[in-house]
Amino acid sequence: MASRPTPYLDDLNPAQREAVEAMDGPVLMLAGAGTGKTKALTTRIAHLLVMGKARPNEILSVTFTNKAAREMKERVGRLLGETVEGMPWMGTFHSICVKLLRRHAELIGASDRNEVIEGRPQLHLKSNFTILDTDDQIRLMKQLIEANGMDVKRWPARMLSGIIDNWKNRAWTPHQVPTSEASAFDGRGVELYDQYQRRLLELNAVDFGDLLLHVVTIFQQHPDVLAQYQRWFRYVLVDEYQDTNVAQYLWLRLLASGHKNICCVGDDDQSIYGWRGAEVGNILRFEKDFPGAKVVRLEQNYRSTHHILAAASGVIAGNKGRLGKTLWTESQDGEKVRLIGHWDGEEEARWIGEEIEAMQRGTRGNDRMSLDSMAILVRASHQMRSFEDRFLTIGLPYRVIGGPRFYERMEIRDAMAYFRLAVSQDDDLAFERIVNTPKRGLGDKAVQTIQKMARSNGVSLIEGARLCVESGLIKGKGGKALGELVQGLDRWHSQLLAESDTHIEVAEQILDESGYTTMWQNDKTPEAPGRLENLKELIKALENFDNLQGFLEHIALIMDNDSEDAEEKVSIMTLHAAKGLEFPAVFLPGWEDGLFPSQRSMDESGVKGLEEERRLAYVGITRAEQICTISFAANRRVYGQWQSQLPSRFIDELPEENVDVLTPPGLYGGGYGAAGMSASASPAYAMRSANTIEQRVQKADVYNSPGWKRMQNQSQKRGFAQPNESRGLTIDATATSSFTIGDRVFHQKFGYGEVMEIEGDKLAIEFDKAGSKKVVAKFIVPAEN
Ligand code: ATP
Ligand code: MG
Repeated sequence: MASRPTPYLDDLNPAQREAVEAMDGPVLMLAGAGTGKTKALTTRIAHLLVMGKARPNEILSVTFTNKAAREMKERVGRLLGETVEGMPWMGTFHSICVKLLRRHAELIGASDRNEVIEGRPQLHLKSNFTILDTDDQIRLMKQLIEANGMDVKRWPARMLSGIIDNWKNRAWTPHQVPTSEASAFDGRGVELYDQYQRRLLELNAVDFGDLLLHVVTIFQQHPDVLAQYQRWFRYVLVDEYQDTNVAQYLWLRLLASGHKNICCVGDDDQSIYGWRGAEVGNILRFEKDFPGAKVVRLEQNYRSTHHILAAASGVIAGNKGRLGKTLWTESQDGEKVRLIGHWDGEEEARWIGEEIEAMQRGTRGNDRMSLDSMAILVRASHQMRSFEDRFLTIGLPYRVIGGPRFYERMEIRDAMAYFRLAVSQDDDLAFERIVNTPKRGLGDKAVQTIQKMARSNGVSLIEGARLCVESGLIKGKGGKALGELVQGLDRWHSQLLAESDTHIEVAEQILDESGYTTMWQNDKTPEAPGRLENLKELIKALENFDNLQGFLEHIALIMDNDSEDAEEKVSIMTLHAAKGLEFPAVFLPGWEDGLFPSQRSMDESGVKGLEEERRLAYVGITRAEQICTISFAANRRVYGQWQSQLPSRFIDELPEENVDVLTPPGLYGGGYGAAGMSASASPAYAMRSANTIEQRVQKADVYNSPGWKRMQNQSQKRGFAQPNESRGLTIDATATSSFTIGDRVFHQKFGYGEVMEIEGDKLAIEFDKAGSKKVVAKFIVPAEN
């Protein structure tokens, strides 16, 4: 077998080759983005097979996603020139652990209190266990907290779940939680953790964190089982090693501690899961735990052009405490990283859509590019909405990777169900969806009663519900809540018919009055703020339609629009989901302080969070092969409020010589050509179309926002043309910064007044009605006349 040809080795550089050919013993490959770590790892698998070192099912190979595992399998096949069958142990930590745990479930039990009979605890897990989702997990914890006489308002289940997940990530069973944690959850954390684990056993269930924890426990308590797998898995390989948590590391160490044939590849600069318990320290531990490990460093980047690589290196250089690496590329300078500021998020989406179409047509000065070769990487998933909407409008095929598309998300579907019912009271499916969301104490039985009533009277579910309430068939708390729901639906329906309020106002009322918004406000899951944000996004999307009906039709069409996957599509995904991937052209929108870096990371006292965000920026830029475009908006709607945004601090960290600042559309003379903008997207247009005072304040605001100014300064510094005032770029915009004492002005909240004093950007104003106030200049517009 060893005599088989190994042509694939010729495609590697000497360092990669060293890592591939050092088949036995521990190997740590520590290298920057795009240096061929994954390629080396894949080739190593092929080489082990070719050299007869292991059969496909004797290789344990951990990848970051199931998709990555599939791709790796295909690549190994290509290297060998044949399809590889039977690599069952190539997958994510979780997928591999599920398999292991199903085989040995009965070894997991409530150990200490339990008698062990015939090698297994009395109360034990069975191999057909269910895996709980977060909702189930929370519900269970809530019951336990209440059963322990604690106030769930003060001590919410979400908090407990965060604590327990964290302990599980560290591979601590209830008895292993150290005393330093004793005060957790009002001093009851450990006790509740123990009860929770016991309850899971009774239910024959595990949660996500248990998958690893249980397998580690089995390996630790049953040396015979461990020994069996140590023999079985002759080689262990791990990609994206920098994102392993302690439990995962322990698991790997246990499995590899016999033969020590373990190869880990990673990049400390790409560690982006610290918030989920990943520890970069695992990289440092490796050399200690596996003395004599061969440490391979790769420095040549094969993915990106010089400018892209230099921009990424410039940003990551801002982090302290790095292991430090040099990266170089033989590829051409290529295009500089493009930086562009926009008016607002919608314009950003419009511009990117046009850019993508131009690249696809080949009218951008590049060769024609396929949509598959382009990706938009966002920091927060709520950013996806404006892209999805825009692309649907212009008919640009896209796919959302690693998460449901905006309109398929739970909270959006719930909200839409309410809207549908307000429009049409016959929509029974919508009624079923929301009748007990938020919880109204209407269980399955109540719903069946309503259905029966509706059927026997030949009416809709709403009418059925009304009859149930009126006849007293559904009573008590549930009956009252149902009555209120029916009344609400009637009210919203007639509001829409009467057109007394706009459809947007009615939609907002629906979400408030139904208790749906409150439900998410009270929810303490990490996802809840994102869901609230998505609901705001939904309301924002309504602005493009005259009525709710038109909007719902638009969405119905979208949902039906799920075209064949073989079609070329632009990819939209979060930066986290983009790890390990590469695309010829990458768009990185929303580089604004508070969005990226996230507000949370900026609010933290230390630099830890910020450094993780910076690594995320590094991951983002290094996904690009040829074209990398970073953008930000001067104005963005956050939680329904327009906010003037500051460009991300990471933008300042991009080395000037590697960046091309594109002309912000419409602001500078001749700007449209460069950016390929249509006049309709220009700020001047937006200003003309801004018809309420409020909108004008907001729009004028953009030009006075620190963000826009910084953008101008950066352009100036880089030698761009100055704003062309004669383009009609709005008196309002420039006038706001040049008030003089005595000017008559208008403020959205305080009304008309007169400027009394000017102090920097603050004005003391004597308002006609509101008296004297100090306000920031940007919230003021000159009064007509
Ligand atoms: P990341 O850190 O982003 O996961 P990586 O180090 O895993 O990156 P790969 O994805 O393996 O990098 O490789 C990046 C690109 O470089 C791929 O397109 C790969 O095919 C190519 N490549 C890797 N090694 C070589 C080589 N020796 N010669 C030519 N191309 C290579
Ligand atoms: Mg990789």
